[in-house]
Amino acid sequence: MRSRGRPGRVRTERRRARCARGPPPIRGERPGAGGPGAPSGTRMGGRPTSVPPVARVWRPRRPRPARRLIGTRDRTPTHPPPASRPLTTTRLRNHRMDLLEYQGKQLFGRHGLAVSDGKPVTTVEDAVAAANEIGYPVVVKAQVLIGGRGKAGGVKLAANEDEAREHASNILGLDIKGHITRTVWIEHASDIDTEYYASILLDRSAKKPLLMFSIEGGVEIETVAEETPEKLIKHHIDPLVGLTREEAIKVATDGKAADDVIEGVADALVALYEVWIEEDASLAEINPLIVTPDRKVKALDAKVTLDGNAAFRHPDHAELGDSANADPIEVKAAEQGVTYVKLDGDIGILGNGAGLVMSTLDVVAQHGGTPANFLDAGGGSDAAKVKQAVELILANENVKAVLFNIFGGITRCDEVANGLIAAFEDLKPSVPFVVRLDGTNDVQGREILEQAALPNVYAAKTMDGAAEQVVALAKGA
Ligand code: GDP
Ligand code: MN
Repeated sequence: MRSRGRPGRVRTERRRARCARGPPPIRGERPGAGGPGAPSGTRMGGRPTSVPPVARVWRPRRPRPARRLIGTRDRTPTHPPPASRPLTTTRLRNHRMDLLEYQGKQLFGRHGLAVSDGKPVTTVEDAVAAANEIGYPVVVKAQVLIGGRGKAGGVKLAANEDEAREHASNILGLDIKGHITRTVWIEHASDIDTEYYASILLDRSAKKPLLMFSIEGGVEIETVAEETPEKLIKHHIDPLVGLTREEAIKVATDGKAADDVIEGVADALVALYEVWIEEDASLAEINPLIVTPDRKVKALDAKVTLDGNAAFRHPDHAELGDSANADPIEVKAAEQGVTYVKLDGDIGILGNGAGLVMSTLDVVAQHGGTPANFLDAGGGSDAAKVKQAVELILANENVKAVLFNIFGGITRCDEVANGLIAAFEDLKPSVPFVVRLDGTNDVQGREILEQAALPNVYAAKTMDGAAEQVVALAKGA
């Protein structure tokens, strides 16, 4: 049996890997613009859903038979195609994880890229203690997921204890473009002779990693790319071969790095590629990559984005990311293994299958509503899972009404109904719920809900009708 089982598992894993590869290339995605803070423009990565493919051509709604066999699926789309206007206004984050500078530097260090030792701290006292231990001069650096910290006063050199205290107290709590600084990184200050730039990102259109290098570092690289593009060397890496030292030397030479540091720069580039490929990063950027007066090459800053779809390969990445600034509901959802993304609106959404949830967001938006979240309850949602999901949705105080959109396949509508009843008994929500149950055991599900006669719960038969009703309820609330 074992010999039969294993290939099956391999196949499944391959399929999962294919599915996890995420969305198709985005037009207009600019190299260098994909880092933290850049608008993502992408929707959630593809994952298998239990939703049947929607017919390509929209046909007018067929009148439904009064009673259908349990479990039959009505494939008629319930709303017109996005012919005249773009459907969704709602954008979901891609599944990615942006690292703080010091976390990126720790990954760099593991792959042999030179960085300064330091310490992350969250209080002024700890900052002073760390500075005293490291030895002056030190640099005090705000750890926030946004660039341009230096210009915003988030990077300061301190020559002694008094200065370290002053800078730490100014920087802790500092608002940098909407990001509140909760952690500062203290490292021994480096002497700088020259500032270079290096990065590797995935060039989706070329289907290859793209290495970029410039001797114009320490400034915004977009400016270099626009004003002096000849100073930004771009080199595609063959992912099957990796970045060879010879290639790296050519890049450093073409980029006109100083003769005596060509080898040092090449070593740094090779190490950066090792970080990118082995840690499953989608972006690894060093700005500035410095040359010290004694001609050492060193990463003074780090901007790393990891591909969240590869997280299963890196249990050690679990504690990375900006947990101090993470949304508490998203954190809780992640712990429970639920795909939840907080959005700006006031209509809580639950559906089963990412595709169905996306369409639900679209239909709600089309009816003039704004979704408060994306929540995919997944296939086979049982009562306990539904209750958990309701708790997550209601944890967002902005929610004024909730739409449950369940298309029963593996998920049984009667189970969802029972979950909802259990959740209501416990949580006693004060906001109205619109529940659309369709598919496996939908008749039973609606009967269970009817018998329970929950206050403030409205059953709907179509997605369109449900969306219309929930928008009206949210506006009236
Ligand atoms: P960013 O502004 O968010 O990109 O933060 P960086 O870490 O890149 O720091 C901004 C600038 O501060 C750098 O370009 C350097 O010029 C300067 N800087 C940072 N660390 C040091 C250091 O150890 N020594 C010196 N002399 N300057 C530093
Ligand atoms: Mn920088």
